[in-house]
Amino acid sequence: MSRFWSTLVRELTPYTPGEQPKLTNLIKLNTNENPYGPSPKALEALRAEVGDSLRLYPDPNAERLKTAVAEFNGVSPAQIFVGNGSDEVLAHVFLAMLKHDRPILFPDITYSFYPVYCGLYGVAHRTVPLTETFEIDIADYARPNGGIIFPNPNAPTGRQLPLSNIERLLTEHPDSVVVVDEAYIDFGGETAVPLIDRHPNLLVVQTLSKSRSLAGLRVGFALGNANLIEALERVKNSFNSYPLDRLAIVGAVAAIEDRAWFERTRQAVIESRGRLTVELERLGFQVLPSVANFIFVRHPDRDASELAQALRTRSIIVRHFKQPRIEQFLRITVGTDAQCQTLAAALQEILT
Ligand SMILES: *Cc1c(COP(=O)(O)O)cnc(C)c1O
Repeated sequence: MSRFWSTLVRELTPYTPGEQPKLTNLIKLNTNENPYGPSPKALEALRAEVGDSLRLYPDPNAERLKTAVAEFNGVSPAQIFVGNGSDEVLAHVFLAMLKHDRPILFPDITYSFYPVYCGLYGVAHRTVPLTETFEIDIADYARPNGGIIFPNPNAPTGRQLPLSNIERLLTEHPDSVVVVDEAYIDFGGETAVPLIDRHPNLLVVQTLSKSRSLAGLRVGFALGNANLIEALERVKNSFNSYPLDRLAIVGAVAAIEDRAWFERTRQAVIESRGRLTVELERLGFQVLPSVANFIFVRHPDRDASELAQALRTRSIIVRHFKQPRIEQFLRITVGTDAQCQTLAAALQEILT
């Protein structure tokens, strides 16, 4: 704390990112990164862009990227907003369309950056408890609000809200923006993108960090009615004209165009998730049904933070949240089959 700090900064509670340890040789299953690496074509495009062109500013509108995202999703470029990771896109969303007199609503167990943005931008919010089985019940959202936001599949539970329920939520709240954060949608969930033409109050947010294995490049985007996109552009152009650098733009375009790599790697993760689920259930874990690249598990007889600690001494890092309702759960990223096997063997040893 310093007398030079603004009142706002004194009162902020910043987000705590998952640990990025300096040690190598760790099996890192704590931040939902993709074990397979980016498309080789994306890496080639990045290398080709390193040169004299870096002297010049990038395209402030990243038109090439908007076009690539629009084509992939069968929508128009005017329905696309791109940003420096979906975290930046989400930050702009809070300022552009969730800051109203009425509080916004999001689940009690969800992405912990949402309350942080509320603190930064002075957005009033209420949390809505997930059901006993850690699902979103849209009936619990039937109250006046300034907007609704949740990840689908939810994080850290991995559970999915069916598209029919999202559509009902959109219809029941025609005067609120409903933001669906689809960071993990490519691992088996059903995207809400086809609904954006029918529902002017729907904004879908996606990222290249998980299913395109480009967490280090920082590229995210939003899809929605052109009118919502314009609100985001107004915030972006009042904040940073060039959120995506030249490397990010060319790397992201190549990654999105390489559909074969995308399909192969996401299918591999989906299949490993199935095998890991069976293995952990065999060891007595309860595993919530997941359509994400992580699973959320608890053991009926063992303390979760002790399990996380025991794994750490074996060089395996998983995520434990010291938070009511979920303090006995571990969130485990689905790695390669070899990593999953090492994890299962370590757990077996710890449990016996
Ligand atoms: C990982 C994640 C993000 C952020 O992704 P970036 O694009 O890397 O900023 C957003 N929402 C959820 C739910 C996530 O898990």
